[in-house]
Amino acid sequence: MHPEPGDYVEVRTKKGVFKGILMPRNRFSDENVVILKLDNGYNIGIVPEEIKIIKKGHFEKKSHKRDIPRRDYVPTISFIGTGGTIASYVDYRTGAVNPALTAEDLVFSVPEIVEECNVRASILFNILSEDMRPEYWIKIARKVKKELSHAAGVVIPHGTDTMSYTAAALSFMLPELSGPVVLVGAQRSSDRPSSDAYMNLLSAVKVAKTDLGEVAVVMHATTSDDYCHIHRGTRVRKMHTSRRDAFKSINTQPLGKVNKEVVFFQDYRKTGDETVLMDRMDEKVSLIYYYPGMDESTLESLLMDMHGAIIMGTGLGHVGTHLLPIIEKAVKDGTVVGVVTQCLYGRVNLNVYSTGRKLKAVGVIPLEDMLPEVAYIKLMWLLGNYDIDTAKSLLSKNLRGEISDRRMITW
Ligand code: GLU
Repeated sequence: MHPEPGDYVEVRTKKGVFKGILMPRNRFSDENVVILKLDNGYNIGIVPEEIKIIKKGHFEKKSHKRDIPRRDYVPTISFIGTGGTIASYVDYRTGAVNPALTAEDLVFSVPEIVEECNVRASILFNILSEDMRPEYWIKIARKVKKELSHAAGVVIPHGTDTMSYTAAALSFMLPELSGPVVLVGAQRSSDRPSSDAYMNLLSAVKVAKTDLGEVAVVMHATTSDDYCHIHRGTRVRKMHTSRRDAFKSINTQPLGKVNKEVVFFQDYRKTGDETVLMDRMDEKVSLIYYYPGMDESTLESLLMDMHGAIIMGTGLGHVGTHLLPIIEKAVKDGTVVGVVTQCLYGRVNLNVYSTGRKLKAVGVIPLEDMLPEVAYIKLMWLLGNYDIDTAKSLLSKNLRGEISDRRMITW
């Protein structure tokens, strides 16, 4: 007889013998690994040599959706599911792991959330975030606008890989908000004892209940379960492949932190009466990473047919001098070209070296301390919503906190 999820089993491995409940697989599980819930409550992943059933169990895949009457003393929060690791969860009663198929399942798996708010939940996509596209950002922005006419705030569970891109896109597409928009993810799927999904989600809900009229990302601030940071949507980046504190605010402090309460460290835009949507994006924009050895024809092809381009230059914002004629031609032909730094930390300055001065002379716009992907998304948004001269002049202006004041010491 084959062991099934829910069976109490004995598993023999190279490292010893383990007993526990066999957990169901999810789409993040490694094929060779079985997940076992030990008697002490911890889940472990092990490569089995032999599995013996000790007691036949029964695993029931249950929906968490509960009919809870609406309470007037708590606000309504809308959850818009988009996928990612966070969309898998552990059932705290059975210890079982399920890929969360509905946003309700995801939300109701954290009992404290139900105490905090009335829940509206829907799934817009169930994708890994590397599959995100500008047209999906537009769909999310439209859905947020709709949801904010029913809810006090919105929480968007999202894959972590491109969460900061979506946060930046929403920041520009939603210039005024009647409620907070909070993106949240998990670095570890919920079937792992070290999962950050639970605390991140609950912290996101707390931020969604504030008067923050901005798009934010809420994720673990440290590698332990101490507290979460609130990052401004235009300043945040995933800076580690797997650590729970992978998300950092770059060139600025986080907006605040959450443990039991929400505490803001910085000024922020407050919620207004209305949510404004400006959802056009010009996809003819490229993000170009310059490297020594990039030749003219490579750059030419990356600029071809583009309405705009962001170049990630070296150091203060440089590219090899041999590429200047190509850039000059693109600018003359009407392409808006901005430059940011590969260093990520610090500010572009095209006045220090001759290569920088030459870049400036051909009409490249220095983009201060803006993050590369934020500059890329901002340019798509500007070209989608404004004429070219306005787009050019707004590109280097601070619109959503994406550029910091020169006098601020940020690192
Ligand atoms: N690569 C996937 C994504 O970004 C899974 C990783 C995650 O959610 O953290 O959606």
